[in-house]
Amino acid sequence: MRRGIKWLCTLLAAVIALAFAASMRWSVFLVHRANRTTLGAEQVLSINMGAIEYCADGNAEYVGVLLPAWDTFVGPASGTFTWTPGRFKVPNTSWLRIPLWLPLALTAAPASLLWWADRRRQRLTEGHCLSCGYDRRGLSGPCPECGRSAEPPTSR
Ligand SMILES: [Zn+2]
Repeated sequence: MRRGIKWLCTLLAAVIALAFAASMRWSVFLVHRANRTTLGAEQVLSINMGAIEYCADGNAEYVGVLLPAWDTFVGPASGTFTWTPGRFKVPNTSWLRIPLWLPLALTAAPASLLWWADRRRQRLTEGHCLSCGYDRRGLSGPCPECGRSAEPPTSR
């Protein structure tokens, strides 16, 4: 369970970091049209300039032909990078932007914490120094390598 969470967070953080880096160069748009004979009335999910954006547009314009229900577009990234989330709502359009550093921080933080805790636990069970990893089995007092004092026995 705990191991699963560690790897899941690590994997998610890696994927988000990759998407973040790629989105500074390229943008990806996923478009859904509920009404397939109007242009503009669509839901758009995009990754662009380090953020994931969702836009629900109700400014319909009848075109008289049947459009595909789903479309994807890939193009060069446009606009500028913004750290803050954003949101606006006007009568026909609502829009939401979440910068990718937010989900990245939310997955990378627990992942690094779990990696750190596992390494600490492994060093404790192996009898190695918590700071430098020196094999201090059979030794008492501070670590001869880095001077860190011996760990008090922990309740596990
Ligand atoms: Zn040490």
